[in-house]
Amino acid sequence: MEVKRFWEIKSSGGYNPNYNHLVPRVEDPDFRERMEYLREFSLYRESLNVGQPRAKNTEKFIIEGKLVHGSKYGYDNAIYINSTTEVILYCYKCQKHFYQIAGNHREYGCFACARKDLGARKATKKSEFIRRAKKLHRFNNYDNIIFESCNRKVKNIFCTLCDRYFDSFGEAHINPNKPIGCPYCRRSKAEICAENYLSDNGYKFTAQYTDPTLKLTNVLKIDFMIYINDKMYAVELNGKQHYIQANRSKDMELNRRNFELYQLRDRAKVDWCAERDIPLLVVSYLDFKKIPELIEAFIVENT
Ligand SMILES: [Zn+2]
Ligand SMILES: [Zn+2]
Repeated sequence: MEVKRFWEIKSSGGYNPNYNHLVPRVEDPDFRERMEYLREFSLYRESLNVGQPRAKNTEKFIIEGKLVHGSKYGYDNAIYINSTTEVILYCYKCQKHFYQIAGNHREYGCFACARKDLGARKATKKSEFIRRAKKLHRFNNYDNIIFESCNRKVKNIFCTLCDRYFDSFGEAHINPNKPIGCPYCRRSKAEICAENYLSDNGYKFTAQYTDPTLKLTNVLKIDFMIYINDKMYAVELNGKQHYIQANRSKDMELNRRNFELYQLRDRAKVDWCAERDIPLLVVSYLDFKKIPELIEAFIVENT
């Protein structure tokens, strides 16, 4: 094939047409042969640029590529035709050839590596999510989660307190000020704070403690039951609604009855603990900032 014939088979139209049809595939049996043609063609084109010192050629393309990408890529088969024609590059990391439009090489490298990097970034996001989530939700298990990103619903979080799976919006789940946890347990920030304190200090305890004898009409729960030397110590964290009537409903009679129920339940818990000689610490919402100190003082005082 005469070198001149390349002109005849150049791509149709356009200001800067590409010559991709001349670039052989590495797996082609006549790859070497066709590369020779391509090299001749590039030299022929280069010869047309004599007197234009800034015109790009293979040599300049390779120098620039190495300047931008260092020693990541091999250029043994790189032949520069023009900015819109593919160049054959070799990725040392993937140990594979790849094709790239010459004009894109300054900005981009190997596509496979780029995809892997993206995957890795996603993976660190996932592990970072789990790390932060575990600090806030100690009783959750993240082994089977389906994680896309923190801006999406994270699926399949397992709550070991109620043995249920739930989904949660990533950001909301790890929000340090108002972490949204298991919707079935509805753990408050105060509970999480107490839980972390007890876990960090190696206490044995049950969250949401229940006992068949502890009930009003329904079974009641004590927020934390701590076990020290076969003795039990109860901790209740009482939000505002325990002290001030929360008018959540338009029905004021309902609001009043609900508030009364809070007081009856609280009274029942105090009595239940007193009857069994179980020391009880009730932390009011006004003291939620001091939960660790209050629990510590309570334990020291009663053991
Ligand atoms: Zn690569
Ligand atoms: Zn739960």
